[in-house]
Amino acid sequence: MIIIFTDVTFPGFSRSLGAYMYANKLKTYSDVQVIDFFGDLSLNTIKKIKRKFKPDIVGFSSTFFQEYKIGRWTPRYFPHSDKYMRDLFKVFNGCKFIYGGVNTELLEPYEKMTWHEGEQRLWLDIRKHTWHENDLLFEDEWLPLETSKGCSFSCPFCCYRKLKIQVHKDLNELRQEITENYYRFGITKYMIVDSMFTTPEAEEKLKMFRDLPFDFKFTCFARVSHFQNLYDLEKWSELFLDAGCMSAYFGIESLNDETLKTIHKGPDVKTQLDILSKLRERWYGQVQIAASFIIGLPKDDLNWLDDLDKGPWDVHHIQPLRLELNSRLKSPFTENPEKWGYSFENGRWKTQYLDELEARKICFKYYFRDKNPIPVMFHYIGHVSNVGLSINSNLNNKETVELLLKKRSAKRKEYLKKLWKL
Ligand code: SF4
Repeated sequence: MIIIFTDVTFPGFSRSLGAYMYANKLKTYSDVQVIDFFGDLSLNTIKKIKRKFKPDIVGFSSTFFQEYKIGRWTPRYFPHSDKYMRDLFKVFNGCKFIYGGVNTELLEPYEKMTWHEGEQRLWLDIRKHTWHENDLLFEDEWLPLETSKGCSFSCPFCCYRKLKIQVHKDLNELRQEITENYYRFGITKYMIVDSMFTTPEAEEKLKMFRDLPFDFKFTCFARVSHFQNLYDLEKWSELFLDAGCMSAYFGIESLNDETLKTIHKGPDVKTQLDILSKLRERWYGQVQIAASFIIGLPKDDLNWLDDLDKGPWDVHHIQPLRLELNSRLKSPFTENPEKWGYSFENGRWKTQYLDELEARKICFKYYFRDKNPIPVMFHYIGHVSNVGLSINSNLNNKETVELLLKKRSAKRKEYLKKLWKL
């Protein structure tokens, strides 16, 4: 028996698709159970899981494990600590451990594990995904949906880009996956996991979504340059509306032209703002335009920060640059940070303008400022809906986050109840 622990994506709750895809592959060889909510499970629950499933192999899908850090802020909801992690591996004494995902360095200090090559193979597989009864889906849940793999962009801060070309899921298989999920589980809402969703090839997918015999809704990543290349912005934006798009997330990263050139990201700032303004005019009140930015990119003096509230987007989000030098998955930045203008002091990065601590302070100040609170954005719409919170909530408000954590905890209890019944 194989069990695979995977963490719930914060905020709220949503599945990380990779663990479930991997489980489907392993099902050919063994019984497999994916166990969600890893970040919230007490050691007693872990022991109960061991007694129930009697695994000989224990897997960890680590992509969202960094969310433990949230535990430092509200530790009562997140039991993990160094001692917890050491005890956890003792519980599974005698088992083989495998792991995958982007944050494996968080697990490596605790146990010698096998980096599973299966994860690499998953990258080549873009067939229909099947959800199972023992995945314990909730009624009306937002699910992740992969529509293509790979990315032809070359953002140097990115370690996800394993395929340099886009490989699409066959349209019939995609339709079949969505239809099956509807008839078997009543699922109609999706977070599209696809870095290149807005290429012109999306047209046939959008038309298929539009023509489904039920009300289909989704959130997706979007690229300004894709919209720039489309000759008919009016028609294209209309199609997104008709297909059920609720939020499009544009990774703008910086409003400094030099920086954009250096990180090979999109057209110049003026062109990007023009395109987004047109989209906003068309989508206003219907499709949320979410824009994200990174604090600490090369050559970036951050002179644009004060303009953020005036931009042509409904919500925007800033985050500090993370340079995980020890991570098994490398980006051009982490492979050769000096080349990009980064030096290190006490393990933290530094540019000519600021260091990592300053970047975090800027973001924190911004997250908790009183005016202009930031509402739920992008895939978070699915995460918070999945625990029953309104998508119009303000996640920068401490009371709302407390409520969200309570709701997430209630969802975990509901999940475990189903797990014990298997
Ligand atoms: S950040 Fe997104 S667009 Fe850029 S290379 Fe990575 S996956 Fe592609």
